[in-house]
Amino acid sequence: AAKAAGRPWLRFTEDLDDRAGEKARLGADIRLAIDSEQFRLVYQPIVTLPAGDIVGVETLIRWQHPTRGFVSPVDFIPVAEENGLIVELGEWILRRACEQAVWWRDTLAGRAPLHVAVNVSARQLAEPDFARTVASVLASTGMISSNLTVEITETAVFGGGQAVETVKALRDLGVKISLDDFGTGHSSLGLLRTLPVDALKVDKQFVDTVTMAGEHAVIATALIQVADGLHLAAVAEGVETAEQAAELHRLGYRFAQGYHFGRPVEDPFREVALAVA
Ligand code: C2E
Ligand code: CA
Ligand code: CA
Ligand code: CA
Repeated sequence: AAKAAGRPWLRFTEDLDDRAGEKARLGADIRLAIDSEQFRLVYQPIVTLPAGDIVGVETLIRWQHPTRGFVSPVDFIPVAEENGLIVELGEWILRRACEQAVWWRDTLAGRAPLHVAVNVSARQLAEPDFARTVASVLASTGMISSNLTVEITETAVFGGGQAVETVKALRDLGVKISLDDFGTGHSSLGLLRTLPVDALKVDKQFVDTVTMAGEHAVIATALIQVADGLHLAAVAEGVETAEQAAELHRLGYRFAQGYHFGRPVEDPFREVALAVA
């Protein structure tokens, strides 16, 4: 970029080229990572308030690349969405999470919750075959459909294809639908009239301010009222302190997730398993 000094437009185009190049390299690395099994899954507890009993877990993907090091899903999921690899990767995630859930069910027999949530992105939801893929994964892993929750964002629902039909088909299978990052979109409330969902995950940004004075808790309060009014479960996301948990409980939240209760780990039930053995 030295030759571009004094010619900022040239540097700008070079930066764009660099970024496009890096995105392409990252995309290629995702392909290699699928083939060489660099991805693993972690599971974060979803708990009741105020007791903190685990009622389920959310599946989150992790990528340790041999030279890049840890790559956040925030950085690579959008690239996998763009180049389409999310379809293959997403199916792998779903299958592994179901296998894990069935393993917990069989080894911990009643001592661990059965409920497992999996994030599904716009591209997957737009696939005409997605509901069939889920049905076949459920059948081949022995996972009971009502123990699976699919977490979707409203952007994914508006992402085109037959997303709404797919959500309905999933529900017909008995799969639970959870609306992720709720409150951050543009038409969340309108969507709830057309989309059959079972739960709302109230975004961390509304949890972060819930203990602050004044108007900061207004949205967290409004969202639990929406959930209650529509008979939907509400999960408060990103709870980091006991104060937040207490305040959310006071507002009427019955479910929560966050570092205060447990970070995402490979086996949140390890201790339970050791006790059973
Ligand atoms: P998300 O679905 O909203 O997931 C919640 C994120 O918040 C996770 O970040 C989780 O580790 C983090 N988190 C949970 N509790 C706390 C807390 O108390 N404090 C803070 N600061 N963070 C907390 P993560 O694992 O980095 O994932 C980020 C996003 O990447 C996810 O947001 C989701 O959109 C996407 N993602 C992750 N795994 C998958 C996957 O398997 N498939 C798809 N399609 N997307 C995924
Ligand atoms: Ca999620
Ligand atoms: Ca979320
Ligand atoms: Ca999020």
